[in-house]
Amino acid sequence: MRLSQFFLPTLKEDPKEAQIVSHRLMLRAGMIQQSSAGIYSWLPLGHRVLKNIENIVREEQNRAGALEILMPTLQPADLWRESGRYDDYGKEMLRITDRHDRDMLYGPTNEEQVTDIFRSHVKSYKNLPLNLYHIQWKFRDEVRPRFGIMRGREFLMKDAYSFDLDYEGAKIAYNNMFVAYLKTFARLGVKAIPLRADTGPIGGDLSHEFIVLADTGESEVFYHKDLLGLETPTQAEYSPEQLQSIVDEWTGYYAAADDMHDAEACDVAESDLITRRGIEVGHIFHFGDKYSKPLGASVAGPDGKEAVVSMGSYGIGVSRLVGGIIEASHDENGIIWPASVAPFDVGLINLKSGDEACDTACTEFYGKLTNAGVDVLYDDTSGRAGEKFAKMDLIGLPWQATIGPRGVKSGVVEVKNRASGEKQELSLDDALKLLV
Ligand code: ATP
Ligand code: MG
Ligand code: MG
Ligand code: MG
Repeated sequence: MRLSQFFLPTLKEDPKEAQIVSHRLMLRAGMIQQSSAGIYSWLPLGHRVLKNIENIVREEQNRAGALEILMPTLQPADLWRESGRYDDYGKEMLRITDRHDRDMLYGPTNEEQVTDIFRSHVKSYKNLPLNLYHIQWKFRDEVRPRFGIMRGREFLMKDAYSFDLDYEGAKIAYNNMFVAYLKTFARLGVKAIPLRADTGPIGGDLSHEFIVLADTGESEVFYHKDLLGLETPTQAEYSPEQLQSIVDEWTGYYAAADDMHDAEACDVAESDLITRRGIEVGHIFHFGDKYSKPLGASVAGPDGKEAVVSMGSYGIGVSRLVGGIIEASHDENGIIWPASVAPFDVGLINLKSGDEACDTACTEFYGKLTNAGVDVLYDDTSGRAGEKFAKMDLIGLPWQATIGPRGVKSGVVEVKNRASGEKQELSLDDALKLLV
């Protein structure tokens, strides 16, 4: 992509409305534009990152055996009356009436909707286990939408729902998602730690929030220092026993957010206990028959008896992650994208656009990289060198390649690694080898 043909409305000044670094950088890098409170348009650069994250989340869900569907954003209120949540949900739910005076709502989550799909079609335990997920916009009329897309009102979530014959099966489904989340966050280039979360009236210990550590996080978290050193599981598949032992390993260390932390009950030595702030980027939850019972989702079991299915739900805040990753990965000059989610792989800077030799060298290098499958943003504009460098640092592509009059003469390109800041002068061929 040539920058001259791209839409990148960057800002030089810090926008006043932004209180935290990710919001500031997303506005400055021209990634998003506010439409109304907590509701945003995604501009080309932001949209690319959002889609990259979404795709990694999708791949890991598919690998874990979950099946992608797409449920609507607008749901009938009657379904929520069946579960009793239409009245319980309160003001966070956006309620809408259609022209025939039917009560509708913009889904804040999809337990009822997916349970309705399940009960219409699945009648036998032989069709279990089943895990259905979608990646869809949600609406929650948050009291205080803030921090840009981190606490939006409209936001993109991946939500998966598992159906099993009994608790034992549901626990395997839960562990399977737990491990899929560890893999997902590792691929996204962030350290996310699982914390035990409140299970409320459901009880049990099958609820975890996944938290990215960042100073601007909304919750305070307490965890054993060794938790950060654990190895992420990499195998494609695990047996139920292996899943259990991975979950046991990761949940064997103390980790709790402020709402669950109990200084008295915490037996971690003070020197081993770390206190930081964190951002909730995922949440998994086993809730048994909470929805399947009132909605009548049951199957014939092996003994011929009807059994109400046991369910869990598994959310990832896809749009929140865009901000979460920036909070965890930036410096004073801008964003530092992990390679897996970066909007482009390489930023190519032409130091003297309009100079025939520079233009030719850049066009050729750009063509070679592009042909090799590298996603390049080529700054072919006539801006000043300093401005070009600053812009590339701001948008945080993993690599920058700079070609100017001096380099053209000697056949070299300067390659900079955004994360380390390390620069090297390489021949065009060696630069290609490094970047492809
Ligand atoms: P929070 O505690 O931040 O309000 P939540 O516990 O209400 O989040 P869940 O119902 O667990 O959220 O939803 C699953 C995931 O969706 C969350 O882990 C989070 O990543 C994301 N999410 C929830 N609310 C928002 C929001 N207002 N804006 C962006 N992402 C959100
Ligand atoms: Mg909430
Ligand atoms: Mg929460
Ligand atoms: Mg939650």
